[in-house]
Amino acid sequence: MKLYNIKDHSEQVSFAQAVKQGLGRGQGLFFPEQIAPLADVDALLDKPLVARSVAILKHLIGDELSQEQLQQMVGTAFSFPAPLAKVADNCYALELFHGPTLAFKDFGGRFMAQCLTAFSTGEKITILTATSGDTGAAVAHAFYGLPNIEVVILYPEGKISPLQEKLFCTLGGNIRTIAIKGTFDDCQAMVKNAFDDEELKKAIGLNSANSINISRLVAQVCYYFEAIAQLPKAQREQAVIAVPSGNFGNLTAGLIAKALGLPVKRFIVATNANDTVPRYLAEGTWDPKETVPTLSNAMDVSRPNNWPRVEELFKVKGWDLKELGYAARTDEETRASLKKLNAEGYLCEPHGVIAWDVLQSQLAADETGIFLCTAHPAKFKESVEDILQIELPLPKALADRADLPLLSTFMPADFAKLREYLMA
Ligand SMILES: *Cc1c(COP(=O)(O)O)cnc(C)c1O
Repeated sequence: MKLYNIKDHSEQVSFAQAVKQGLGRGQGLFFPEQIAPLADVDALLDKPLVARSVAILKHLIGDELSQEQLQQMVGTAFSFPAPLAKVADNCYALELFHGPTLAFKDFGGRFMAQCLTAFSTGEKITILTATSGDTGAAVAHAFYGLPNIEVVILYPEGKISPLQEKLFCTLGGNIRTIAIKGTFDDCQAMVKNAFDDEELKKAIGLNSANSINISRLVAQVCYYFEAIAQLPKAQREQAVIAVPSGNFGNLTAGLIAKALGLPVKRFIVATNANDTVPRYLAEGTWDPKETVPTLSNAMDVSRPNNWPRVEELFKVKGWDLKELGYAARTDEETRASLKKLNAEGYLCEPHGVIAWDVLQSQLAADETGIFLCTAHPAKFKESVEDILQIELPLPKALADRADLPLLSTFMPADFAKLREYLMA
């Protein structure tokens, strides 16, 4: 697989390089040189998840990974299902939260861990990442116990939910977690400082695991095929997919799936009050506002990292951005739709339900809608219980860790301290 830097087409890299490097020069994103359609999509759709995903990834990645390697990597990474739940005759929920950390980020995080292992030449790698909750858990569990990889995760002390903290700060081993006295922005700034520090970077083999990594995106392409594969054949050509979006990695993966030949009639972007993209699609001006906290906090992003990839894809495919549906929802609307969907018999959470609500308002009579459920309702236990006035049992993944002791180190928001810690 050849990729180029969107900001500087003269920078061309292999898949392995793109995975190891993350970002190109000038913070430019890597984009596939070619996305050739798959030969026989119908036959692929008849295969089971792992076999089909191996075929898709082999087609995308090419010779850099052998069939056998991919088989082993995908089998390990995609060890849980992505069921399509019927919500109404013309509406389905794609449940992406059956992995070890109960969010869709398990697909990308686990495949990225496999890729870094496969491309490792034996040198030590340190993955340093900042999290406001979901990414930290997915990365920690994905990299736990892998040889030659140290993981250091920074999070704002007291600003993530107690259950989120238990999920990734109780592992130990090669996973170190640091509670920073500050905000998520402070954590992110410390990570950036570390990446600007050439001496440190070299000494500890610094790498990042954030959502701009191409290995996470190609993994996510696979569950769009899994969604359509589970749809009754008569409904396949009329499928419309609504994606609850923050950094727009998920949407990018869906669009790559369509470029590969997956029958998806159109996509709909659903955001919360952080609505830079819906306003851009409506008015044509890119005007990010200050990020506001919402019930769907994993989508509290006003400068989405992956948007340049979406635009690039529309450009190279000759698609029209006008084909992309869009809408934003307030917290008040999110509460109302969570109740409404629950009354219709489906328990959701504040991210997925925004996609459901937007889908309801934009689906034509002859279309079939699919909305992506990006996290397990129990991950947002406090707000879901409060809005629906119910009690949610803890899923095993959370219950198993709820009573374990926290292993985090505490640190002020001071890069010098972090540097000292990493060099020790
Ligand atoms: C990360 C996340 C999102 C946003 O996905 P993007 O790929 O960043 O658009 C939505 N919902 C949940 C639960 C998430 O964790």
